[in-house]
Formats: sequence, structure tokens, C-alpha cells
Amino acid sequence: MISRRKLLQIAMASPLASGGALAHALPRSFSLAFCGDIMMGSTFPGEALPEHDGQKLFVDAAPVLRAADLAFGNLEGTLLEGGETQKVPSPTTYAFRTPVRYARYLKEAGFDFLSLANNHAGDFGEEGMNSTQRCLREQGIAFAGIRGRCEYALIERGGVRFGVAAFGHNSYTLRHGDEAEVRRILAALRRRSDLIVVSFHGGAEGRNRARLPYGEEIFLNEKRGSLRHFAHLCVDLGADAVFGHGPHVPRAVEVYKDRFIAYSLGNFCTPYMVSLKGISGLAPVIEIQMSSSGRFLSGQIYSFRQIRGTGPRLDPGREAAKLIKTLSEEDISPRFFTIDESGRILPAVAAASAPAQTSAAEPSGGPSGQGAESEDPRIGEDILIEEPAPEAAP
Ligand SMILES: [Zn+2]
Repeated sequence: MISRRKLLQIAMASPLASGGALAHALPRSFSLAFCGDIMMGSTFPGEALPEHDGQKLFVDAAPVLRAADLAFGNLEGTLLEGGETQKVPSPTTYAFRTPVRYARYLKEAGFDFLSLANNHAGDFGEEGMNSTQRCLREQGIAFAGIRGRCEYALIERGGVRFGVAAFGHNSYTLRHGDEAEVRRILAALRRRSDLIVVSFHGGAEGRNRARLPYGEEIFLNEKRGSLRHFAHLCVDLGADAVFGHGPHVPRAVEVYKDRFIAYSLGNFCTPYMVSLKGISGLAPVIEIQMSSSGRFLSGQIYSFRQIRGTGPRLDPGREAAKLIKTLSEEDISPRFFTIDESGRILPAVAAASAPAQTSAAEPSGGPSGQGAESEDPRIGEDILIEEPAPEAAP
């Protein structure tokens, strides 16, 4: 039997598509918005909550997130009252517990999907996971990323079924380092959905980790992923967009086989307990237009900058867009896309044969975070260093 997914592809590829009943009934494209880490504030170990009790966290970003057909992010930590953590707070160990009343801010901001495949979803064990998932369910926000619990989500938009999976590097998450697991999940999504989006939490952390390396990244003695390989594998297995987070700084974007990949969106809404210094404070949202067959059509990087205790605020200097442009030009070759100063991303097959553009590094620290940012990223006030994987809660 021909799959619905295949039918869609045929319908969209056909020169007669505009006259075909199936194609006619479907939107020509979708807009998808991606951002990075969200930890709206914590009541553990002490109280570190944003101003106005969080009600203004997303005022600047909500118009962008809500305008998209689907908005995606990474929820670091738990939505929970009470509970217990196995973690012992220290300068390098954090456990995040956000009040459950903050869940509605995520909905109001426009999020449709949040990844739980990260190193803080298990901060308060089973109880924390149950509470977080209950809160998201109440808000109608899809989530995924925990093995055996919530491995992927299916979201319907305009008659098209999106399958969304999230991978991390902790024992309780689906792991991007486990190729058999990646193949298993992507096969399930191919069977059950028309278009596939994959989230991953991976890569070394810190302001000197914005460059995208080749091969496995090791951080705090943990394998944090071979992320170019993983992202390409996902596309090879049917993913139509892949977005990453985890390094706490933005990284390059890529168009591979006409599919969009963002290697790290950095921090997005982390008003406390996460460093916002320098490029750690950049909070991009990348919105892409995707065809009904999953092809990347265009993108726009919206530049926000986090203000401590306040939330992401529109950055007229467009630093996030400039940084992602520079990083992408340096780290991705060949490039099947171009990014301009305003953050507009366009496919450009011709760019593959064009000579590499030379681009001046950004003056403030540069994309590799050297110079002014050369201090140990682990030292300083409330720098977040996420500790090695805690074992899954009992
Ligand atoms: Zn993390």
C-alpha cells in the first residue's frame, strides 16, 4: 500500500500538483520556529524567579512564536512544587524546579512542542517528570524525548501530520549517540507522520564552544554527540528539519539535502542560574518556511538578547543573526544557502561552487569566543555547568 507520506511527496512534486485534489487541499508551506533552552526560574535551592512572577518573560518573542504554524523549544528542568532531588547543589551541580503556574506562560508564548531530552528533565526524578508532563498536557503542548515514556509526538497542522522526536545524551533520554535508537525512532516517525522534525540536546558547553567540530564532542567526561553525523543521519532517515541546543551558545546552521539544520540555538529564556554573559546572552529564534514535502524554502533569524531576571528582548543590533551568519560561513562547507546581515536565510545551490566569502569576525569576542571571552567559562557568578548524566530516577 502506498503510504500517505509517499502520496504527499508525489502530489507536491507533480507538475499537476496544483490541480490535484490532495495537493489542492494542503497548504503550500509551513512556518516553523525554533529556539533553545528554556528554564523560566527556579525555587530550588533558593528562589530565583523573574520579575512580574514571569508574566512578561515572553512579551517580545511571543509575536514571532505565535505567528509560526509550529513553535519548538527545549524545556530544561521540571515544572514542579515540592519533590526531592538526588542532586546535591554545588557550583557545578544544578537542579531546576520551576513553579507549575509558569506552564501557562509557555502556552501563551506560542509553544507547540518542547523537548524533554536534556540533562535537567530528571532533576526531581519520577515525580518531577510526571508533574512536568502533566503541566504540559494541561496546556496542550506536545513533548518528547524520554525513553519508554514519551518517545515522540504527533502534531496535526493543516491536514499534515508532523512527527517530532527529541534526543539527548542522558541515560533516561533517547540518545543521539545510539544509532540503533535513532533508526528505530525515525522508522516509527516515517510510518506515522508526513513531515518529521528532530530536536537534539548535545555538544560541549560554554562561550568558547560556538564552533561546530567534526567528530565526537567530549565534555565533563561525557560523550556529547557527533552532531554533524547525527543531524545528517536524521535527514538521511527522513527528517525534514533538525534543531539543536545544549552548548548554551548559538552555532552554525546548514541546509543539507534541502533540509534545514540548526546546530545550536543557545539559551532562549533562562533569566537566572545560567550565564548570560557575552554570546551566552544571545537568544535567537529561527523561523523557517518549509514546503509541504519538507523542503527548506527560506528562513529568518530573529535576534533577541536575554536580560537578567527579565527574559529575551528584541535586539536591534541583531547580534544573534550576525553571529550565526559568521559561524555558518566558517563551519559549513559547501553551503547550499546564504544568510544576509538581517538574518534572512535563502537556499542558494549556486553557493556551493562559489568561492567562500570572507567575513570579518564580530568584534566582541568573535565567533569562537576567544579574546575577551577566554576566561574559563565555568568560573563566575551563576555560570551553568551541567553535570555528568545523573542516572534515571528510580
Ligand atoms: Zn542542558
